[in-house]
Amino acid sequence: MLKYSTMKRRDFIKLSAAIPTFTPSLAFSTEKPINETPKINCNFCSVGCHGDLKKDLFCIKGYSNFDLDSKQRIKTPLLRMKDGKFDKNGKLTPVTWDKAFEIMSFKARVTTQKFGPNGVGLFTSGNLGVVESYALNKFFRAGLRSNNIYNTNHYTAYPSMVASVQVFGNDGVYGNFEDIFKSDITISWGSNLAETYPVLFSKILQKQSNDPHFKFINISTFKNKTSDFATLNILIQPNSDEYLLKYLLKSFLEKNEHKLDWNLIKRRFIFAKLHSTNHTKLDELEQWEISYKEYKKSLEPYTLEYIVDKIKAQSEEKESFIKKLKLLSDYFNNFDLNISSLWSAGINKQKNAINLNVLLYSLHLISNKHSRPGCAMLSLTGQSNTLMSTTILGNLTHRLPANMYVKYKEHREKCENIWNIPNGTLNPEANSDQNQLLENIQTNKTKFLWIVGSNPYKSTPYLKVHINNLNNNQDIFVVTSDYFLSESAKLSDLILPTAMPFEKETIHCNNDRKLHFTPQQKEPFEKSMSELWQVLELSRYIELQDVWNLNKIDENTLLVNVIGQLNIFNYEPNDSLYRILFNNKRTKRYKLNNKNKNHLNTEVKGDSRDILAHNSLLFFGYRYYIQNYLYDEMSKFFMGVGYDLPPFDKLQNQDYSWPYIYNKEIKYRFNPHNDFYAKKASQLNDQYIFYGNMGGKTISFGNFQKITSEDKEELKFRAKIFTTPHSSKEKQKNSFYLHQIKVLEHVNTGTITNNSKHLSSILNQSYCYMSKHDMKALSLKNNDLVLLSKHKNSVVLRAIYDKRFDLEKKHLAIANYGNNISLNHIVTSLSDSYVEIQKWTQKNV
Ligand code: SF4
Repeated sequence: MLKYSTMKRRDFIKLSAAIPTFTPSLAFSTEKPINETPKINCNFCSVGCHGDLKKDLFCIKGYSNFDLDSKQRIKTPLLRMKDGKFDKNGKLTPVTWDKAFEIMSFKARVTTQKFGPNGVGLFTSGNLGVVESYALNKFFRAGLRSNNIYNTNHYTAYPSMVASVQVFGNDGVYGNFEDIFKSDITISWGSNLAETYPVLFSKILQKQSNDPHFKFINISTFKNKTSDFATLNILIQPNSDEYLLKYLLKSFLEKNEHKLDWNLIKRRFIFAKLHSTNHTKLDELEQWEISYKEYKKSLEPYTLEYIVDKIKAQSEEKESFIKKLKLLSDYFNNFDLNISSLWSAGINKQKNAINLNVLLYSLHLISNKHSRPGCAMLSLTGQSNTLMSTTILGNLTHRLPANMYVKYKEHREKCENIWNIPNGTLNPEANSDQNQLLENIQTNKTKFLWIVGSNPYKSTPYLKVHINNLNNNQDIFVVTSDYFLSESAKLSDLILPTAMPFEKETIHCNNDRKLHFTPQQKEPFEKSMSELWQVLELSRYIELQDVWNLNKIDENTLLVNVIGQLNIFNYEPNDSLYRILFNNKRTKRYKLNNKNKNHLNTEVKGDSRDILAHNSLLFFGYRYYIQNYLYDEMSKFFMGVGYDLPPFDKLQNQDYSWPYIYNKEIKYRFNPHNDFYAKKASQLNDQYIFYGNMGGKTISFGNFQKITSEDKEELKFRAKIFTTPHSSKEKQKNSFYLHQIKVLEHVNTGTITNNSKHLSSILNQSYCYMSKHDMKALSLKNNDLVLLSKHKNSVVLRAIYDKRFDLEKKHLAIANYGNNISLNHIVTSLSDSYVEIQKWTQKNV
């Protein structure tokens, strides 16, 4: 099990006692009676803490996993019904699982037949475990032949993944959480680590208390609890990171150009221009090689004098701010220092997030702070399984597992071969932009939507706008699988009660690239069942002849009717998707053995509850090790391409990082001394080799403005150091800048944590945090109501001044967990964060 270094709960609580405002919240974790349940796997953030509840380290959100009010759980499938029949305007009524899957499969079948594969859609997230994400992906792409897979991480973690594909040729994270202990300096770029990633933050506190030379630098747009512990705080204006990063790159090259090993740089890097200013773009962005001279020229404007007023926060005094920037630059210029960078939503939710990620990687690459201990480059955004389930497993509209793409025939064929389905089954068409999926909902093209592990009505910008279409359109059927009655569940036609992480066997992969296996701890609550079981059961109700006989995607695009190829595979038209995708000849090998026969595993063996499943028969389990089968099948995608997974039986006993190859986990990717792939590719004993681009990929050549030559350079074993066109900064307006923040007590939309009595009693509503100055200017006292508005939308919240979020003038900060608010009312665009605010009075009604 992952132990958070040598730090134990007691030490963490001791250190946490030093955190003034939220000490009571953390101290509360010691008082909380420990549940007998021994193991916990926290999905709430990318740190992915797990282990023994009594021995290992968690934050109060983690402990709340066992403190959730079961009265609020969904007990049984609920269907909108009137007079005993499904009716969109009916009341949510308890039904059996069989009834739920009958109507769900009917709607999926009819929609596919009538509107093609693009009529059905999946809305998912990194909250799900690895195996269930893989099963959903397989069911949608191979079964329903739909690429309409939307992931909430499009708006959160995805920009850093797009950036890593541009820079390294593969996606992932570069470094480990343990790098904090090996670094001389750790920098937080726009992340309030103390509240958002508390257990990771505890590593920084621990390193600080053990190493007097260690420096923790906090770059932030307002003072927060993380600032209280930083060696150096650099307060900047919102959306000004690009100036800072380009200044650091420029000053590094100016001071160190003559010291660099240019032969090594030429072998391992390509200077390039990335033409992307849009956060919503998918992977393939316009780019071309440029000369080093052009690269350097592109950074020329970013002198200290030019950037300082553009980035300095109001409360920073200019002279000392300049000193801080020079100091930061000196740290990067010092070849002997190991620097690790951590970043999250403060970077990843900006409109130019892809560019910012690319610049962060470029800064680490050119200053040689990468591919070795102590030099991590870690984007933290997302839930615990975001990295694996979203990008690496390909749970995005245009992606397939292991860095493959829907649009390439050879990639689809590799998938079809592994899945043992006819060539041509996979749909070659995918959306070109993530916003297209939302537009499909808005324009009623998506008629069947399954929301799993997500609360998009509250979490996704724009989606609020589309709700009416979902609710009022008789043609549309929305299903939500969740533990609690979320905002999205309440608006759905069918709700499926879902087992919580400790009620099912799961495998998660956190942003430390660590895979961890958690056995099922107890039987699921009431009639809840896991997402994996739900996919498998639904697939029993759909036959090949329902979905594989299509010959067009839409009016203009053909699809292969693969029914004619069934005899090659010994499949029959009336075989269910279950038989082909999940219970085929290959599954026979996955018998229960002595080792696992005593484990609780509802999917495999059933449990003591009377769950009526397919054909209203009692569910006694699938009687083969479905999780093991799916994991092994999934591993085939990753083998030999830089993502190798540890064997299932090893993972059952111990955590391992991927890539795992020849019985060894790779800690430092691209480092030939540690990374098998880099070693295999190593030439001249280079210190690093970027195998993301293993071969075949090329890049054109140009100047800063455009491509100038048809000749193409091979990328093999090289990474790109990018420059970017300057993204336009959000225009300062006379209104207030709204920061969307996270708090220690709640996770994202509060869909889960709002059901913890302890957490809700500490913080039971979303506040509008304001500066002292603005409170006074608007004649507000703490807890007075304010009206926030933008265009025609508004929300009412209590205003508060709290040093916990010490804001600059004309800045507001809100976390979106409150029961009665949805920032989607007012945050309708990532490119405009300004809102109006006034004291709320009866006159506003
Ligand atoms: S919320 Fe994050 S830091 Fe806290 S216990 Fe869960 S995974 Fe760990």
